[in-house]
Amino acid sequence: MGSDSDTNAPISLDLVKRAPKVLLHDHLDGGLRPQTILDLADEIGYRGLPADAASSLAAWFARTARAGSLERYLETFRHTVAVTQTAEALHRVAYECALDLAADGVCYAEVRYAPELHVERGLTLPEIVEAVLAGFVAGERDALDNGHRIRIGVLLTAMRTAMHSRRIAELCVKYRDRGVVGFDIAGAEAGSPPTRHLDAFEYLRHENAHFTIHAGESFGLPSIWEAIQWCGAERLGHGVRIMDDISTAPDGKPVLGRLAAYVRDRRIPLEMCPTSNVQTGAAESIATHPIGLLRRLGFRLTVNTDNRLMSDTSMTHEMKLLSDAFGYGLDDLQWFTVNAMKSAFIPFDERLAIINEQIKPAYAALMAGDIAPQPGMQ
Ligand SMILES: [Zn+2]
Repeated sequence: MGSDSDTNAPISLDLVKRAPKVLLHDHLDGGLRPQTILDLADEIGYRGLPADAASSLAAWFARTARAGSLERYLETFRHTVAVTQTAEALHRVAYECALDLAADGVCYAEVRYAPELHVERGLTLPEIVEAVLAGFVAGERDALDNGHRIRIGVLLTAMRTAMHSRRIAELCVKYRDRGVVGFDIAGAEAGSPPTRHLDAFEYLRHENAHFTIHAGESFGLPSIWEAIQWCGAERLGHGVRIMDDISTAPDGKPVLGRLAAYVRDRRIPLEMCPTSNVQTGAAESIATHPIGLLRRLGFRLTVNTDNRLMSDTSMTHEMKLLSDAFGYGLDDLQWFTVNAMKSAFIPFDERLAIINEQIKPAYAALMAGDIAPQPGMQ
């Protein structure tokens, strides 16, 4: 558990950007560049876009995503999915995703998407997976040439409202040595509990494969409980509604219910996405986001973007918002970052190498630079 450091002065945007960050919850189809959407729509003759200039298109996505409901928020994906139905388009958005995250100071990311949403123009599931993987590899390589080292692991998502989860889970296992590191289910929670996909989760457990589950975002404790105790989720996508199991004693102290205690005590990582949570109504504001209390209670928290386009955000922006709201300093950012890296789905020795060789030395240098001028700079 880190220090409760709300006495720290908020840190500058530049410093947050330079600090290494780890991202576990980011949707590929939620992070397209607005200009890329326009280009791709042009190429395939898609006429459904609500705007024809990059700035107004970006504004439309941000405005619609702020509508305050998960269902409305999910509607925006109709367009990003419509323009990513070819191998070239998927390669391009994955490539640009790697470059954008690297430029934002992200050193490790797990990016997820649902292959089943990209078959409209005849692509097969393996073709989709391979196009995205190749795009990420090309992006990692060019980012490194630009001086940014990033590694990206892919999570394959199954839509919880559909019935393809078993097939997608099999795809995860098939590609697990080629860059796919885990599985997830996503989409509207109400009416589609995780146990609908028990078959996929049991298969993955038998195959010793990793998975997270979107749970506790728009729907409450039963969804979290099923995800963990029935399905065996290693992490929770969002999980903010765990707050429903934390009450306040007459003396003002927080009291954890059995499920909240289990999540904390088993160190189950929560993939928190502050801006997205406010936009979908899962949290009221950044200032009152559960992350503040959950951090003090010692939950294993990670900070994430969810959908950079819809939420008009980045890892730097999310960290900066939290720093401003809760007075988090570089030590807190490092705590979130190490937490996320520990919770990643790549092998333990590789996680440790990124923590010890990239994250910790970079934070040590930034912290040293923050309190004293660099040697030779006086
Ligand atoms: Zn998500």
